Amino acid sequence: MTNTVPEIHSTTGATATDSSAPQAAITFADFGLDPKIQKAVSEQGYNTPTPIQAQSIPHVLAGRDLMGAAQTGTGKTAAFVLPIIQKILRHASSSASPARHPIRALVLTPTRELAVQVAENAVAYSKHTDLRAAVVYGGVDMKEQVAVLRNGVEILIATPGRLLDHIGSKVANLSQVEILVLDEADRMLDMGFLPDLQRIIDLIPAARQTLLFSATFSPEIKKLAQSYLRTPVTVEVARQNAAADTVKQVVHMVSSADKQRAIVKVLEARTRQGLSRQCIIFTNSRLGCARLARALERDGIKAGAIHGDKSQGERTLTLDAFKSGAIEVLVATDVAARGLDIPSMPCVINHELPFNAEDFIHRIGRTGRAGSKGDAIALVDESEKRLLDDIEKLMKRKLEVAPLPLVKTEPGQTSDPFFYKPYEASSPKTSVDSAIAKSEVKKVGITPAKPSVGALLGGLKKK
Ligand code: AMP
Repeated sequence: MTNTVPEIHSTTGATATDSSAPQAAITFADFGLDPKIQKAVSEQGYNTPTPIQAQSIPHVLAGRDLMGAAQTGTGKTAAFVLPIIQKILRHASSSASPARHPIRALVLTPTRELAVQVAENAVAYSKHTDLRAAVVYGGVDMKEQVAVLRNGVEILIATPGRLLDHIGSKVANLSQVEILVLDEADRMLDMGFLPDLQRIIDLIPAARQTLLFSATFSPEIKKLAQSYLRTPVTVEVARQNAAADTVKQVVHMVSSADKQRAIVKVLEARTRQGLSRQCIIFTNSRLGCARLARALERDGIKAGAIHGDKSQGERTLTLDAFKSGAIEVLVATDVAARGLDIPSMPCVINHELPFNAEDFIHRIGRTGRAGSKGDAIALVDESEKRLLDDIEKLMKRKLEVAPLPLVKTEPGQTSDPFFYKPYEASSPKTSVDSAIAKSEVKKVGITPAKPSVGALLGGLKKK
């Protein structure tokens, strides 16, 4: 089938298409996607393609290699999963024979959380087709994954190390892969996955189509792209190294001993304003993360911790509890910064600044996603000023430093140095709306509840 390729704003080579720039009024119907895919898209409640989708999907359908500069939260997963399904749909088979279900598309992600979330999307978007989608990642038993792979799967989402294990034991074969996606490629490089990536890519036919997504285009990413992509088209939906415009950022100078109390006050201020108390709080160490979560619980705040020392099962439970609202504060290290798919996340708090300025962008990318508004609050003590400088340099702008105003006190009453001026940035709305539909009048629907992460651990799509 031929696909309509709408006019788009992107070029080969470096380009800077700001998410705020007017987008051509493209609808999902313009992409010429199979009705089975379109049906799944409307069931998700999506009315209008996000900018990254509007710009990427036509190129991917046309067979181009692509470099996408897009943060998680911009709708980038559908930007590659939808056209992938369209492209491999011709192979869909209702046969039970594993030989009829070889791996046709491979998505590599840095973390298991992101892998699971991409897989959830792939399952949802392909549910009316005979294509199978599955996920494999480390830290859990291989057995179930082996069974899923042996059964046959067309769309495989994997973390690199575990995929190599399956390749080593001859359970996964990449010789029929047509499309490769490197998702959050910058993070994969940061985490030292380059040798693993090289080994995996060497096993994929050279005639493949390669898509690379990254929040930032560092020199290392450009080098990776040069090695593995062929004359890629480049699309960007947010200014390079900038946070989404929908995020209101503020810095409060607070000594490290007072940060926990400051968080309690921030949450109280949000309650007073009728804003959601749901937030992710980032810490730099696993120990600090666990301690802060416990301390907040002692303060009567429903908190959970997610960090590298937690088992996959524990992480899944905590994440599900957070998504369901059973806990309101998720304290996390950067491991969890990637791929957490919570569209209406209203607030991110940096309990301390990350050592790597790019991580700051990823952290605050948890809020203001897919066009909804968000607050990003950084609690900074004197010793972190250099880190703040680095972040401001990377973002090419100064962050607003708001003092913690003293409450006017009556005579004899002690002042509360932690009184927070109420934040005005966010309206309490939770729907995915404005930025997606910047040039649209139509309102974009809220993503319906997804299957629980646990439901996907077996990998096979649910019919
Ligand atoms: P992602 O950047 O892929 O993690 O997507 C962020 C969130 O936006 C996810 O919850 C998606 O389900 C949602 N989303 C993706 N595409 C659209 C769309 N076209 N309209 C509304 N929501 C979307």
